[in-house]
Amino acid sequence: MALSRAPLSRRSFLLSSPKPPPFFSFFRYSPPLQLLPNCKIYNSASLHTEESMAPPLQFEAPSRKKFNWKPLCLYHTQGKCTKMDDPTHIERFNHSCSLKLERNGLGLKNFRAQKFDYFLVLDLEGKVEILEFPVLLFDAKTMNVVDLFHRFVRPTKMSEQRINEYIEGKYGKIGIDGVWHDTAIAFDDVIQQFEAWLAKHHLWRKEKGGLLKEAAFVTCGNWDLKTKVPQQCIVARMKLPPYFMEWINLKDIYLNFYKRRAPGMISMMRELQIPLLGSHHVGIDDTRNIARVMQHMLTDGALFQLTARRTSGFIFLFRRHSDQLIKGIDIFKTDRG
Ligand SMILES: [Zn+2]
Repeated sequence: MALSRAPLSRRSFLLSSPKPPPFFSFFRYSPPLQLLPNCKIYNSASLHTEESMAPPLQFEAPSRKKFNWKPLCLYHTQGKCTKMDDPTHIERFNHSCSLKLERNGLGLKNFRAQKFDYFLVLDLEGKVEILEFPVLLFDAKTMNVVDLFHRFVRPTKMSEQRINEYIEGKYGKIGIDGVWHDTAIAFDDVIQQFEAWLAKHHLWRKEKGGLLKEAAFVTCGNWDLKTKVPQQCIVARMKLPPYFMEWINLKDIYLNFYKRRAPGMISMMRELQIPLLGSHHVGIDDTRNIARVMQHMLTDGALFQLTARRTSGFIFLFRRHSDQLIKGIDIFKTDRG
């Protein structure tokens, strides 16, 4: 399989040249294996604990033609592709953020008007420090992705050797460690660029108090905004931006709507019979799969509303282990980690 060839090609390259040429990694970002019959997640060693014990996925193999699927150009997602005039490159890599609605035939009779115009689908990668910061701008009416913000993030508290080992372990096997090294920037620079992107879309203005306008973050779990972003802000010695103070936890909406618990994105996709596309635990691919789960839930009639808010303590607007979205609020004293 293409995946098994990737480390070999990398080794032979490393022996022949000390510095990767631009776009080298394009040719190692192999089509992920999830498109194969009886697909398994190829990078099982990096699965989150909650899903690492799950049985192998048995998704029906989707045809590439049906989904018109090809891997995203990870330079383009970061505004850094210089091969837009190369037909071979354009043929091989996806340069569009759009996500086809896969349930067109079902009609939209269950669709409910949402309280937000846009959702910002966020799925961070990196356990020690954030390595990838992908956000999809999802239109709540059209259920399509209208833009994306994607940056690879360079840790600031690790030695170069540790970073190299970390990236090799995380992204090496799927051949995107090269693009990571080519493009990763520090977290505070990422946030500065993210704010400019939010402002461009009229979703946020610093002088208006720093809260989002007509938009809300959607994450799969509370970890991204409850734990990881605040931790990274401490590492970067920056104040936690106000727009990270509240969010929608997709798992809570899923439980509230379907009356079933879902430990993670994979289990939701399995239950909803949505084939996994792209590479699990590549953040930008995970955000796209989360958005596909959202499309499915919206066409089923789910209402996406805030589930968590950070104040002086911490507030969950959703009562866990219950199937009711509560009218009041529960305050759980938690640490900020
Ligand atoms: Zn490109």
